[in-house]
Amino acid sequence: MALNNTMKQSSFTIKTFGCQMNVRDSEIMAQLLAEKGYVESMEMEDADVVILNTCSIRAKAEQKAMSMLGALRKAKRRRPGMKICVAGCVAQQEGQELCQRMDHVDLVIGTQNLYELAGLLEGIDGTSKVAISMSDSYEIPAFIPAMPKLISQGELQDTSPARSFRKFLTIMQGCNNYCTYCVVPYTRGREISRKVNDIIEEAHVLVEAGVQEITLLGQNVNSYGRTNPVTAEGNEYSFAQLLRDVAAIEGLKRLRFTTSNPKDLSLDLMRCFSEIEILCPQFHLPVQSGSNIVLSKMNRKYTRELYLQKVAELRSFRPDIALSTDVIVGFPGETDADFEQTMEILEEVRFHSSFSFKYSDRPGTRSADFDEKVDEQVKSERLSRFQKRQDQICLEQNSLYVGKILPVMIEKVTEDGLVARTVTNHIVHVKEKITCSPGDIVNVTIHHAGQHSLNGRIDSTNQYQGYSHD
Ligand code: SF4
Repeated sequence: MALNNTMKQSSFTIKTFGCQMNVRDSEIMAQLLAEKGYVESMEMEDADVVILNTCSIRAKAEQKAMSMLGALRKAKRRRPGMKICVAGCVAQQEGQELCQRMDHVDLVIGTQNLYELAGLLEGIDGTSKVAISMSDSYEIPAFIPAMPKLISQGELQDTSPARSFRKFLTIMQGCNNYCTYCVVPYTRGREISRKVNDIIEEAHVLVEAGVQEITLLGQNVNSYGRTNPVTAEGNEYSFAQLLRDVAAIEGLKRLRFTTSNPKDLSLDLMRCFSEIEILCPQFHLPVQSGSNIVLSKMNRKYTRELYLQKVAELRSFRPDIALSTDVIVGFPGETDADFEQTMEILEEVRFHSSFSFKYSDRPGTRSADFDEKVDEQVKSERLSRFQKRQDQICLEQNSLYVGKILPVMIEKVTEDGLVARTVTNHIVHVKEKITCSPGDIVNVTIHHAGQHSLNGRIDSTNQYQGYSHD
C-alpha cells in the first residue's frame, strides 16, 4: 500500500460490541480501510468515519450500541462531514428501519457485506444507504490479512498490546442449528466453511508477520467442512484435520479455537488434545442448561447425559483440560427443578469459568413467542446463585495451580511487571521486571490464586512441570 503523505488521510474508529466473531470482523474492516489509505483514530469524536459493529445476541450489547449511536448525533451535528456506519447483527436485522429511526446514520451494512465497506463509504452522498444481503451460497473471500504487516510498518495502529501476536482467524460463518433463542442463523445466515487452502494461507501470513497464537473462529467449529466442500478435490475434511494442518505451520506456538456445539464434538477432535502439542488444553463447551426439558425447548439437540459423556471423554484424552461454558437462566418454562439441574451440572463438571446470562427475548427468535416467561426477580435470583457458586469453584480450581511452574505467554509489559496467559487461558500477573516482549513465553511459579486470575514469579530454575493438577 503506497500512501501519499502530502494528502490528508481520512481517519476511522471502529467500536465493537459482542462476540469474538465481531472482534475479527472489526479487524477485517480496519484492514480494508487501512488498505484504502485511512488511518485509525483513537478518538471517536475526531474520526471521519465511525463504525459501530453491533451484536444482537444479548439485549445488553444491543442497548449499549444503540446508546452510543444516539450520542453520536451531537458529534455529527458539530461535524456534518463525519460518516456514521452501523454494521453487524443489529444492522442486518434492522436495515432500513434503523436509518428511519436514526437519520444521522449514513450507512447500514449487513454481516455478509462487510468486504464492500470501503466502496460503500466512497459512495455516500448525504443520504443514508443500506447494503444488506443474505445468501445461502455466499463465499467468504480468500482474503489474506496484511494487517499485521501494516502494523509492523507503522501504517496502522495496534491499540491492544495483545493483538499483534494473538490473532483470530475466521474459518466459517453462519449457523444451521437454529437454537430457539438465537438470532445468529438469521443475522449471519446459513453455515458456510471457508476453503482449507485459504485458511492455511492466511495462517501462514499471520505467522510470518510474527503472530504466535491463533484462535480459529466459527459459530460451531465442530461442524467445519460439513455443509460445503472445503478442499479443491471436494474430499471429506474435518475440523480435526484442519487443526492438525494449522498446527503443522512452523513458528506457530499456540493454537486455540472457539466455539462448539456439544452435539457435534467428535472423538477425533477430542483426540487432538492428546496429540497436538501446541493445541492449548482449554475448551469452551456451551451447555446452556442442565435440564433435558429446557435443552429440548432450546433445540440444542443434546441431552445432559450426552454433554456429561462428552466431558468425561474429553478428560480421558486430556485430564487437565480447562473447561468453560455458557449458561442461560430463566429460559421460558424453566422451573426450580430445571434450574437445580443446571446447578448440578456446575457441581459435576466444575467449569474453570462460565458466561452466564438471564434469558431475554430477542426479536425474530422462536423463543420470543414462547409462553411461561420466568419472572425477572426469579431470573435474577437464579443468576446470582449460579454466579456465586461458579466464583467459588473458579477459586477452588485456580488454587490447584498454586505451587506449579507454568509456561505463560507475555501479553503486556507494565511499569511494575508483566501480564501473561497460561495455556489454559488464565491471566497471570507477575510483579517482577525482566527483559521480555509481548509474545515471549517464560516459566512462572504460581504463588497466589484469585477467582479470575493468578499471581506468579519468574521461575529461575526453568523447570517446567507440565500442566496437570496432580
Ligand atoms: S449453535 Fe445455536 S446458539 Fe450457537 S450460533 Fe448456532 S443457533 Fe446460535
